[in-house]
Amino acid sequence: MSYVDDVYAKIVEKNPAQPEFHQAVKEVLESLRVVIEANEEEYKKEALLERLTTPERIIQFRVPWVDDAGQVQVNNGYRVQFNSAIGPYKGGLRFHPSVNLGIIKFLGFEQIFKNSLTGLPIGGGKGGCDFDPKGKSDREVMAFCQSFMTELYRHIGADTDVPAGDIGVGGREIGFLYGQYKRIRNIYEGVLTGKGLTYGGSLARTEATGYGLLYLTAEMLKCNGKDIKDKTICVSGAGNVAIYAIQKAQQLGGKPVTCSDSTGWIYDPEGINVALLKEVKEVKRARLSEYAAKRPSAEYHEKKNGEHGVWSIKCDVALPCATQNELDLEDAKALVANGCFAVAEGANMPTTLEATEYLQKNGVLFCPGKASNAGGVATSALEMSQNSERLSWTFEEVDAKLQGIMVNIFHNLDDAAKKYGMEGNYVAGANIAGFLKVAEAMKAQGIV
Ligand code: NDP
Repeated sequence: MSYVDDVYAKIVEKNPAQPEFHQAVKEVLESLRVVIEANEEEYKKEALLERLTTPERIIQFRVPWVDDAGQVQVNNGYRVQFNSAIGPYKGGLRFHPSVNLGIIKFLGFEQIFKNSLTGLPIGGGKGGCDFDPKGKSDREVMAFCQSFMTELYRHIGADTDVPAGDIGVGGREIGFLYGQYKRIRNIYEGVLTGKGLTYGGSLARTEATGYGLLYLTAEMLKCNGKDIKDKTICVSGAGNVAIYAIQKAQQLGGKPVTCSDSTGWIYDPEGINVALLKEVKEVKRARLSEYAAKRPSAEYHEKKNGEHGVWSIKCDVALPCATQNELDLEDAKALVANGCFAVAEGANMPTTLEATEYLQKNGVLFCPGKASNAGGVATSALEMSQNSERLSWTFEEVDAKLQGIMVNIFHNLDDAAKKYGMEGNYVAGANIAGFLKVAEAMKAQGIV
C-alpha cells in the first residue's frame, strides 16, 4: 500500500463516524499523491502526512446557559487548533445544530491550506458549537456567547489563536464574544476578527468572502477566455457569503438570479434585489418567502429532498455559498445539462467528491472553496494587521488588497497545477500550493 493510501486508511480507522473529515482528507491526499510519491521515503520517515492530518490540539467543553424561561441549557463547544506551522491558528466559529467534532475537524483541516494560499502568516483552526441562534432572543444569544467565551478565552489570544465568524456567527455574536473576552482578560487586543467598526473591526471584512469569491471567479474566467459580464449566475445560500457574492457579481456586470436558505429558494429572473435580500435576511432575520412576497418577479420554492433547488435553473456560472455537500452528483448533472461552464465554491466543501469529478470531467472550470472563499480569512488577517498597528485602513485600501490577494491565489494554484502536469485542475493546484508552504515550514521546525 502506498504511503498516501496507508495514511488515509489510518485516518478512517482512528476517526470513526467523521465522514466529512474523511472526505476532506481524501480530497487533499489524492491531490498530493504526485508530490508525495516523488519523495515518499522522506515524507514517510518524518510522518509528515500523519502530523498534517492530526490536530495539534482539540479542546472540547460544556457550555451551560439559561434561556428566557429560566431553563438551563447545555451545548457542546469545540476549538480544533489544527496546525500552527506558518502562524497563529486562525479560523471561524460555527454555531449550528449540525456541529460535531468531525465537522469542526474537516473545517479546521481545510483551513490550513486555505490560510497558506492567502500568502499571509496564519495557521489553521476552527471551532463552534451545536447551539442554534435561530429563534433565540438577543439576551439568550448573549448568555450563550458569554458562557462559550468563559471557557474559550484561556485557549486563544492575538498571537495564539484568533477565531472569527462562520455559519450562525455574525457581528452580533462576535460582539458578545469579544466583550466577554475583554472582561475576563482585561486586554484590548485583536483576539477575534469580524469585529464591529467601532471596536477594531476592518472595513470590507463583512463583504470580503463574497467579494473575494467574485474577484477570483472573474480572474478564472478571464484566464480561460471568458468574461463574467452578462453571465447568468446561480447562487445558493442567503447569508454573509451569498449576499455579498450577489452584490459583487452585479457590480461586475453579472446577473445572479437565485438564492436559498434552509427552508426554500428563490428564482428571480430579473436578478436578485440585494437591498431587499439584506432587509429580509440581515435585518429581519426572516425566511426567504418574505423576499418573494415583496418582489413580484420572484418565485419562491419550498426546499424538497431529491430536487435540485437552485441548481435546476439554467445558468453560466454556479456559486454554492450555503453549506457542505449541498451540490451532489445529480445537481452537477443538471448544471452541465443546462450549459453551466464554471463553478466556484463560496461555502466550505459544498460540492461532493463525485460531483466535483463529474464537473471536472465535463470541462467545467471548478475552483474549490479553500481558494475561492479565502477572501474572508485573508481580510481577517488584514484586520489583525490593523489591530497590531492600532490603525484603520480605508475601505478602498482593504478592498484593493483583497482583490490582489484573490488574483494571486488563482495564479498560484493555476501555476501549481501546470507545474505538476494537471493543467486546469484547480483542486489539485490549490491543495499542492497550500501544502508545499506548510510542509516546508513543518520540516524546518523539526518534530513538534
Ligand atoms: P451564514 O450563517 O451567514 O449563512 C448561511 C446560509 O446558508 C444561510 O442562508 C442558511 O440558511 C444556509 N444554510 C445553512 N445551513 C444550511 C443547510 N444545512 N441547508 C441549507 N441551507 C443552509 O453563513 P456564511 O454565509 O458565513 O457561511 C456560508 C458558508 O461559507 C459556510 O460553508 C462557511 O463555512 C463558508 N465560509 C464563510 C466565510 C465567512 O467569512 N463568513 C469565510 C469562508 C467560508 P438560513 O438563513 O435558513 O439559516
